Amino acid sequence: MPFSSLGLSKPLLKAVATQNYTKPYPIQQDAIPAILHGKDILGIAKTGSGKTASFVLPILELFLRRQLAKNNLVKVLVLVPTRELAIQVADVFQAFSEKIPRQVKTLAVYGGVSINPQMIAIRDAEIVVATPGRLLDLIASNAVQLSAVEVLVLDEADKMLDLGFADEMNQVFELLPTRRQTILFSATLGDAIETINKNVLRNPVKIEV
Ligand code: AMP
Repeated sequence: MPFSSLGLSKPLLKAVATQNYTKPYPIQQDAIPAILHGKDILGIAKTGSGKTASFVLPILELFLRRQLAKNNLVKVLVLVPTRELAIQVADVFQAFSEKIPRQVKTLAVYGGVSINPQMIAIRDAEIVVATPGRLLDLIASNAVQLSAVEVLVLDEADKMLDLGFADEMNQVFELLPTRRQTILFSATLGDAIETINKNVLRNPVKIEV
């Protein structure tokens, strides 16, 4: 199955080609069309499976199609367990976004560094990739609000739980609009992930690779 059959438009197909992605990985074949159809996703996938592009590409396609609201608020929130993953995921959004006609401002925010530059940079961010604790600090400082989030991604959800972020994640969920699309990726499927599945996802497409 070629990339061109997944529902992505020409600019993104060109961007994919320049990254030397010749063929979609299995997770991408399943997740990209489902996300473009507005489905929630429960994805069981490890690092190296190509999971990042499986949500980055359709989310950018939603921006190209103008399916997300036209405003300067955060429309896509990606929660990740670590600073390293936050930077890595934001870089993938950035790399593809640079090659399409709609530049989408993406920002990684994480703890362990000064909050002040993040407070300024987050003002016009449309996609925020965040570790849960720092995101809550930014919300408490009135630097950002989540009332316009249309797509929530939980990346490496099992690792977020292992690192003790369950409370913070629940606090974030409370602040999000209930009408939204939710995409969850986890390397494993345990009781805690099932609980999130039940409470946070709506009739998700389950993808295991
Ligand atoms: P991830 O699992 O998202 O961390 O991705 C693992 C690696 O695979 C990254 O270096 C990606 O750039 C690369 N990658 C993702 N999708 C493809 C693809 N369809 N073809 C070739 N490489 C890919």
